[in-house]
Amino acid sequence: MELSDRVNSIKPSTTLGVAARVKELKAQGVDVIGFGAGEPDFTTPENIIETAIEALREGKTHYAPVPGELNARAAIARKLKNENGIACSASDIVISTGAKQSIYLALQCLLDPGKGQEVIVPTPAWVSYFPMVSLAGGTVIEVPGAVDNDFRMTPEQLEQAITPRTRAMIINNPSNPCGTMYPPDEMRALGEVLAKHERITIISDEIYEKLVYGDCAPFSLGAMDSLAGRVITINGMSKAYAMTGWRIGYACSPAPDGDESPMAKAMAKLQSQMTSCITSFCYRAIIEALENSADAVESMRETFAKRGALMHGLLSAMPGLVCPKPTGAFYVFPDISAHFGKVSPEGRKIDSALTFAEALLEEAKVAVVPGNDFGEAGKNHVRLSFACSDENITEGCKRMGEWLRTLS
Ligand code: PMP
Ligand code: GLU
Repeated sequence: MELSDRVNSIKPSTTLGVAARVKELKAQGVDVIGFGAGEPDFTTPENIIETAIEALREGKTHYAPVPGELNARAAIARKLKNENGIACSASDIVISTGAKQSIYLALQCLLDPGKGQEVIVPTPAWVSYFPMVSLAGGTVIEVPGAVDNDFRMTPEQLEQAITPRTRAMIINNPSNPCGTMYPPDEMRALGEVLAKHERITIISDEIYEKLVYGDCAPFSLGAMDSLAGRVITINGMSKAYAMTGWRIGYACSPAPDGDESPMAKAMAKLQSQMTSCITSFCYRAIIEALENSADAVESMRETFAKRGALMHGLLSAMPGLVCPKPTGAFYVFPDISAHFGKVSPEGRKIDSALTFAEALLEEAKVAVVPGNDFGEAGKNHVRLSFACSDENITEGCKRMGEWLRTLS
């Protein structure tokens, strides 16, 4: 069977690939420590699970409206208004099968092939943005971040990256894979630059907003009046509520002055031809998560904070690693390039993040994600997730440190 050029042009997700490889090795009985998975290791809080079971028992087994049940969309709008300062209403919200689908739909509704449209992405950035932009016909313009600045894009860098072809920007705060975040004043300064360029739409991926370890909450660009009508705020249940397998995400794209949102309408139209709605007994669980689960979220956040500090301390003590302190999400993204040019005990040549990650897995049985697919700025790095137990972190880092010391 002949496949389309479109699908042949992309790679499968590296992050999901590493997680799948770890599962496969474990099933074969290999004692592997996985730092690949980008998902909480906790089970969804009990009250959320019970709510979905009740909804199922009560017969929530039919198709729902395409953008989602109105009460769930209203709860999301309330959350965005109260917590993020975004002026919006239920009709601006489209609920989709994960934030991944929300971003995909948004890009499909924004871009056209053959028009030379550019999408600015500060990198290192989540692997899936790149194929999603290219599948929609756009070109990613990377703005590379520096490790000594926690990988944050400056307003000057942003200004320089903007051209007459810029159609959109995707910003992810806190960041996967960097594990760092923008202080609110820096995010506002980026917003000021964007305010001057009216044709640019901003996709603000805030999926890790609850997982922050510093003293400030992330600032939502959707709260800036000067950007009204141009921000699509993306979030979902996966990370904050340990609900990755439920597949629930949402996009909020209010029009200025409370008018009907053309973007929400367009995304729902596209979704109506793709997946219809999400699993219909989940809508009530969204409300339960948003309105009755703050304690569970906080307890998971505290655990992640401790694990992040543990992993960062262990990595920082290893030879040749440069590693910003995690301030958000559940990743660390050390620069490992000091080891390029070396040879492993089993004779593997380490000349890239890819060969580093392969050798580390084969020889020390520790799985990390090579930085190459997080953009050009990620090529000297590997990503480690600390969404796993203290024992795993301690044992995996011990193996990694010992292995690093054997490279010559
Ligand atoms: N954005 C970022 C930055 C992510 O890391 C992920 C990871 N899953 C997503 C979006 C998508 O999340 P989901 O589809 O599970 O809602
Ligand atoms: N976003 C997570 C990660 O980066 C989950 C896997 C994925 O969807 O990419 O690992």
